[in-house]
Amino acid sequence: MKIRFPALVFMMLAAGTTLRANDVAKPKGPEEDGTKPALTRIAGEGLMDSHTFQYLTELSDDIGARVTSSPAAEKAAAWGVAKMKSVGLENVHTEKWTMWKGWTRGTAQAELLSPIHHTLSIDAMGWTGSTPAAGAEGEVVTANLFDLDEELKSTSRFRGKIVLMEPEGQPRKNFWLIFAQFGDFLNALQKAGALAVIGGQGGFKAEGMHLTHTGILGFAEDFAIPVVDMTNEDQSQLERFLAGGKTVRMHINVQNKFTDGPVESANVIGEIVGRERPEEVVVAGAHLDSWDLSEGTTDNGTGSTSVLGAAEAIVTSGQRPRRTIRFILFTGEEQGLLGSLAYVKQHAGEMKNHLGALVLDTGQGPVREFQLGGRDDLVQAFEAFASSLGDIRDIKVNDKLEFETDTGPFILAGLPGINLDQDSPEYKYTNHSAADSLEEVKPDVLAQNATVMALTAYWLADRPERFANPWPAERTAKMLRQKGQYDMLKAFNLWTFGDLGAE
Ligand SMILES: [Zn+2]
Repeated sequence: MKIRFPALVFMMLAAGTTLRANDVAKPKGPEEDGTKPALTRIAGEGLMDSHTFQYLTELSDDIGARVTSSPAAEKAAAWGVAKMKSVGLENVHTEKWTMWKGWTRGTAQAELLSPIHHTLSIDAMGWTGSTPAAGAEGEVVTANLFDLDEELKSTSRFRGKIVLMEPEGQPRKNFWLIFAQFGDFLNALQKAGALAVIGGQGGFKAEGMHLTHTGILGFAEDFAIPVVDMTNEDQSQLERFLAGGKTVRMHINVQNKFTDGPVESANVIGEIVGRERPEEVVVAGAHLDSWDLSEGTTDNGTGSTSVLGAAEAIVTSGQRPRRTIRFILFTGEEQGLLGSLAYVKQHAGEMKNHLGALVLDTGQGPVREFQLGGRDDLVQAFEAFASSLGDIRDIKVNDKLEFETDTGPFILAGLPGINLDQDSPEYKYTNHSAADSLEEVKPDVLAQNATVMALTAYWLADRPERFANPWPAERTAKMLRQKGQYDMLKAFNLWTFGDLGAE
């Protein structure tokens, strides 16, 4: 559920320094720990006989958009089951979970009435409401996204208005907290009788050219007021009119449908069972659900089919790791990591046997970083593996935390939720937009990413020494506080540690 905060956000949110234990013994990589012959065979299968792009083509064109709990999502899950079986995974099954409410996109139309007249391009944000059937007409007024404290004090001025979100001046708090407060503001606007809100992902303006980007506006949250993203070009024109003191009037008609919950969804799971310690598990996953303005190819067809491609490369290599690799296609990621949260909950008793989770979910580019989710104790050991990939690709290792994808629930469980971060400069355009299509993906990069995932999962599962044990809750809580995650997790009801880890 990427929220495309502007670039400065990432500087503000940059993780703390990486602390490392002093060298004790040099950690062993594949060359020394005996895993290299198997990895070499897997790399050969993954790079020379990959079907990953073929799977991505099927998922994009035969199924297409697959919003969680929709009929298309069900079709995608059945496809995932069939693919896992056909690549030779064992114990293939689905695991059901439920979410609070379903949602279906209808139509979204807007027209500028004054000072000039033309059609505006908009799309509804996910899990937001509708205007009256005939639409609504009103004056457009701005609200400052960077000063919601002030805006929330007097919302009566928004009655009967269409509210255009504008980030003015400097942000006064962490962007996650602004995101959470934007949800409060939307509820206040609904109460105050505002007609609709123009504010895309996190309330920010769309990335051009002529694109809208849909998305959720909270973790498992819906909003009765219609909220739309408008193309950068159209929104910028409205801003110019308003800055020039002109009165802007528009007509807007948005129709969506909520389905009363709980509604059902399911994660898709298959395994390569370990030969020595089958009860110990390494997860390799990505989310199968997508948004619905296009085919959901780069978010996250690429990740989902890399999971399948990784599984296939290992199976066809004939290699069986010491421990089990569990391949998972999560759903509900776009509504707030719901499928992976459900998985961790449903497997709570088994978490002590998990070694970690690999997740791929940053678009179409090559993997560039292994982000170990706050587990600074594992960086050195992992570097010994990463350096062995040098002939395929140079991939850095660090302990950054990623809570915008399915790594999050594993991090909260004290495990290395390992984000395979990708170098995807075009993702800001394709993400949740009508441009999220197969055209944007290079088959060779996709095959390489699937191979990197296969090699990583296999190495983690097969190295003689167990890679990681979950941290006790106290240590995880302390790390999350030190890395400045407390306020964000608290704001989205993801903080389950109480006072643990507090100074
Ligand atoms: Zn995603």
